Amino acid sequence: AIPVLGAQRDTTCPYCGVGCGVSMHREEDGWRATGLAQHPANFGRLCVKGSALGETLGLQERLLSPEIDGCRVDWDRALDTVAARLREAMQTHGPESVAFYVSGQLLTEDYYVANKLMKGFIGAANIDTNSRLCMSSAVAAHKKIFGADAVPGCYQDLALADLVILTGSNMAWTHPVVYQRLVAAKQARPAMKVVVIDPRETATCDLADLHLPLAAGTDGFLFTGLLAWCARQGLLDQAYIDAHTRGFAECLAAAAQACPDLASTAQQCGLPLETLRTFFAWFAESPRTVTVFSQGINQSDTGVDKACAIIHCHLATGRIGKPGAAPFSITGQPNAMGGREVGGLANQLAAHMGFEACARVARFWRTDRIARSPGFKAVDLFRAVGEGRIKVVWIMATNPVVSMPEADLVRAALAHCPTVIVSDCVADTDTLRLAHIRLPAAAWGEKDGTVTNSERRISRQRPFLPLPGEARPDWWIISEVARRMGFEAAFPYQSPAQIFREHAALSGYENDGRRAFDISALAQLTDQQYEQLLPVQWPLSGKGPFRPGASGTERLFADGHFFSPDGRAHCTPVTPRRPMARTTAEWPLLLNSGRLRDQWHTMTRTGRAARLLSHVSEPYIAVHPADLATAGVDDGELVQVESPLGQCLVAARASNEQTPGEVFMPIHWNDCFASAARVDALVAAICDEESGQPAFKQTPVRLQRY
Ligand code: SF4
Repeated sequence: AIPVLGAQRDTTCPYCGVGCGVSMHREEDGWRATGLAQHPANFGRLCVKGSALGETLGLQERLLSPEIDGCRVDWDRALDTVAARLREAMQTHGPESVAFYVSGQLLTEDYYVANKLMKGFIGAANIDTNSRLCMSSAVAAHKKIFGADAVPGCYQDLALADLVILTGSNMAWTHPVVYQRLVAAKQARPAMKVVVIDPRETATCDLADLHLPLAAGTDGFLFTGLLAWCARQGLLDQAYIDAHTRGFAECLAAAAQACPDLASTAQQCGLPLETLRTFFAWFAESPRTVTVFSQGINQSDTGVDKACAIIHCHLATGRIGKPGAAPFSITGQPNAMGGREVGGLANQLAAHMGFEACARVARFWRTDRIARSPGFKAVDLFRAVGEGRIKVVWIMATNPVVSMPEADLVRAALAHCPTVIVSDCVADTDTLRLAHIRLPAAAWGEKDGTVTNSERRISRQRPFLPLPGEARPDWWIISEVARRMGFEAAFPYQSPAQIFREHAALSGYENDGRRAFDISALAQLTDQQYEQLLPVQWPLSGKGPFRPGASGTERLFADGHFFSPDGRAHCTPVTPRRPMARTTAEWPLLLNSGRLRDQWHTMTRTGRAARLLSHVSEPYIAVHPADLATAGVDDGELVQVESPLGQCLVAARASNEQTPGEVFMPIHWNDCFASAARVDALVAAICDEESGQPAFKQTPVRLQRY
């Protein structure tokens, strides 16, 4: 039986970056989730994962008390031990010897406190997040071009566009409610065109007027070629370029050199010339264009260049800051944006400020210990653990032994780390199995705070269940450790509202007027206003009093003013190149990976719901029938998938949705659900140099009948 706080509660879905509002209703046999009709992200819709939330609330499989070396201990002992281990490592080996690896599952308030402890008081910047794996290439592109990590558009722009381009996104499965909104918009306005750019023929292609099954990883050629073609056709908005951009001529020269004509672009992308001509012609005739991009773009060794190439096409034609016109990065996780806002990436400091602002942030936090340079990004962080440079690592709300590339090396690194601390709400994950100290965290339904979705909309996650056993919110756990490390004055928090007000105040502190992320209008919220906060889009500057119910800023850059020092968008030359990973005679197939419709991350929650598991109940690899025949494998047979780094054992599925030579595996399975099915054990940690985001989408592998 699940104890309850009340009969009905409005909250936000804990899964993807759409950020749907959910109303939880208590019924005789448990809880039922329905879409929140007035939430502007979903207007009452939910996908199958969201509607099954009530089926994932049981206390079985929960971590309900702190443990040290497998023995149950009380909170005082656990917190004292964590604080002592951190202090000892700092004193003996320096602040750089400790690291936090956190998650887009954390609420903003949890994230803020973790970031403040590491960067403000431990004095290193070794805090990175699993959002690094999801959208850090988009972040880097936004910062380079816009001068800030600012998403220009909103979901409503998809409904207002005449052309919606979905690239590197199986939106029908990964962001289902935005996809449903797009389906409804197209039904209402059939003239709207949808183009899907993906090597696979995914479920999203059901809506496509045109599918471009381009060669794996060649999106950079496609959008650079589009820019060069627009210039050749005289389609540039020169007045916009002159008034609002810098560096465009150099950018265009690089594009013209890389993609001198349509035929060379078609050849690089492996697309028929006529298909490319149609796509470009549709772009030309559709001033209201939205280009949605997601992990297929970001998870690449040239992810930043690809995102820049997309943004350039919008700037060159003035398709930004207007209704129905935007380049639109959609995040994977429920609070990837909140993590970006607090500075949860190792190369950010706080509140969208970089390390050039360390004196300002130090004044706000009242600390003389602030980190002055970036820390380890995710891949480098676990390499530093493996090299023995990190003595204490604290992992919160994530499962890197499954989700990091080179997952076996991550497992080996943690196995040899002197102190591994894991905060999680479940009792068993591949990562928890390596923890010396396990801290029971509150789960969705018990947690209280805020998240920000892909369109910059801050929404409340509200508790409707009491904390079970000895589980505690992450912000409380981190604050207690900070106090025991001697930083009591800086971590006085008694509630998430108190933390949120501080976070909001920092966003507007000594603002020079060029900061995109400013929610200082929310710094004066009372506890009651925080409790009742309606979904609101940042920025919300503190210049006027906040009106409860205000909806915030729907769209950025309407005035052509960007966040760079000169107010212009800074275009940056892109020379596209193919992925570093190549197939060979020994490794003849290119492995792509991604999400399934009904599962989330490493299945710790969705794996509990029978109806979600029934969609796909076992790990598999999708293979074109011709490749199955070459490998001598029948549909449904067990196969060993091998890369130079590791092996997986999964069922083979014949699939005509695959391009010959390319295979696909879902990311979700792990040793807690099926042995030898962790796809990321196969993936090399080849990263985009600038963003540090790993290239998960192209791994050379081979198949063998088991
Ligand atoms: Fe939750 Fe995303 Fe589904 Fe909305 S679309 S219900 S946020 S999983």
